[in-house]
Amino acid sequence: MDALGELYSELILEHYTHPRNYGDLPGADRVEEGYNQSCGDRVVLLLKLRDGRIEDIRFRGYGCAISIASASLMTEHLKGRTIQEARAFAQEFKDFVTGKREKLSPTLGPLVLFRGVGRFPMRVKCATLPWHTLSLALEEKNASQEEEEKEIT
Ligand code: ZN
Repeated sequence: MDALGELYSELILEHYTHPRNYGDLPGADRVEEGYNQSCGDRVVLLLKLRDGRIEDIRFRGYGCAISIASASLMTEHLKGRTIQEARAFAQEFKDFVTGKREKLSPTLGPLVLFRGVGRFPMRVKCATLPWHTLSLALEEKNASQEEEEKEIT
């Protein structure tokens, strides 16, 4: 299969038309928005954290098949993971699609489908948008906010 064919594989299109974990997340601890200007993709990521783990995750937004499928597949792989694991996955995936890394660990399973993205620089931003947004959502600067919210409840 050629790179473009691989990029728009059945699974990616399936996640695009039926995104997983799409919608609202009442009581989310972290809400982060990402925008990819070159394509017009917008992703809003909502996270519920508990004991250093991602207890629940949802996303909203709109965009091309690559960005939506990447967000959908990402959420499937993050539920129940620790914040540290999630950060490491984000780095790994970004390195993988930009060609800094040759293989993706088996844990990330079907995300290997984004292998072909690297040949299309415009599409790299689409694929990494949800992961950049995730990294921002998990930044330490947001941690104090979470503590404050805990105190209130
Ligand atoms: Zn896009």
